[in-house]
Amino acid sequence: MKVAKFGGSSVSTADQIKKVLNIVNSDEDRKIIIVSAPGKRHKEDVKTTDLLIRLYEKVIDDLDYISKKEEIIQRYADIIYELDMSDNLLTMIDQTLENFIATLKDKPSRLLDALLSCGENFNAQLIAEYNNSQGIPTRYVSPGEAGIQVTDLPQNAQILDQSYEALYNLRAYDEKLIVPGFFGVSRQNYIVTFPRGGSDITGAIVARGVRADLYENFTDVSGIFRANPTIVKNPEVIDEITYREMRELSYAGFGVFHDEALQPLHKDRIPVVIKNTNRPNDTGTFIRHDREINSSNIVSGISCDKGFTVLNIKKYLMNRQVGFTRKILGVLEDYNISFDHMPSGIDSISIIMRSKEIHNREEQVLNDIRDKCDVDELSVEHDLAILMIVGEGMHRIVGTANTITHALAESKINLKMMNQGASEISIMFGIDVADADKAVKSTYEYCYNGKCLKI
Ligand code: ASP
Repeated sequence: MKVAKFGGSSVSTADQIKKVLNIVNSDEDRKIIIVSAPGKRHKEDVKTTDLLIRLYEKVIDDLDYISKKEEIIQRYADIIYELDMSDNLLTMIDQTLENFIATLKDKPSRLLDALLSCGENFNAQLIAEYNNSQGIPTRYVSPGEAGIQVTDLPQNAQILDQSYEALYNLRAYDEKLIVPGFFGVSRQNYIVTFPRGGSDITGAIVARGVRADLYENFTDVSGIFRANPTIVKNPEVIDEITYREMRELSYAGFGVFHDEALQPLHKDRIPVVIKNTNRPNDTGTFIRHDREINSSNIVSGISCDKGFTVLNIKKYLMNRQVGFTRKILGVLEDYNISFDHMPSGIDSISIIMRSKEIHNREEQVLNDIRDKCDVDELSVEHDLAILMIVGEGMHRIVGTANTITHALAESKINLKMMNQGASEISIMFGIDVADADKAVKSTYEYCYNGKCLKI
């Protein structure tokens, strides 16, 4: 059995929905389908989810929200009329939006989640009804009915383990099932959404719950590129990548697949394939537990993410002081700041975090470190970019770091920091944000355009 998830651009218009259903109906094994809300139809368009946020803002600010609501209804009306469906659904859409606004207006974060869920929820009902009308037995299943139980943290839901048992029962249906992505129901009986892009997470949870043989994630590209295609011209598509590699790449900016979606799949080793709705015959990229390694795929991908801040701390004889690092991390914990990397020397330590973590309270954090940790020197650097070279093959061969540093040196890029864990899945380089794109281009050339890496 396959679980297939279709992203926002795949279900944004009547034509796209027809394409999706051709894919779904052409394979008996594609039993459970997760859909996103209608996404952008062209570059300047606005996603339905963002329209819903605008509606929410109007309601919360006590402003006239009718035109925002109409815009949302119009998105579905465009699809419904083109598919020649009856407009009963539009009445349901209007009533549901009004009902949420009336009942949840004084609970803003609940209202936001309820409205956000509408994008996928209306689309799933529409798509199920249309497929049925084409003679294919199809059933809409709400996340509540499916058993997707989540923690009660608005916009940041996490799945509760008991959901998996309930989801297994979806195997019993004979019809094709259409489930809306992006949200679940909490024990307190509220609709709670996953973080943005969370339909991938629903797909992964359902795939694990029904023990699918394959989780197909359909989007608008034919797989995952080895580097950002807006920086490197025509990068190669990765054919196979491991869960661990994917996690590292999504962390550092590969947006094709939500990093939180890997967790449920990883556990039961359910393979994933990223495929293109517009070119369904392209092989796509497989994400699995293990992969074949050969001389051309030692490094799986290269990514570079911006927006990091680093705290540089110096302390003479730091290596002899028991508990020094703990005290510093204790300050970060007091401010609920999570950090990402911590390269260190015998008398110095650098703590790298996303700038948004420390933004607004930098001065207080620095003062607390000075007061509590008896440091010799403390400085902050902003505008750091993190270059990640990711590849399971690196632990088997000698010279990857050499090749990368060579490529960077040739492009006159100053390396501010380097970090490689014992697992050797990735090497991290801290560089100036102004060098970010140049770094991706030059390392790509070295890794894939014939300049390097022989076993
Ligand atoms: N519609 C939601 C978003 O735009 C979830 C998703 O599409 O995955 O973030």
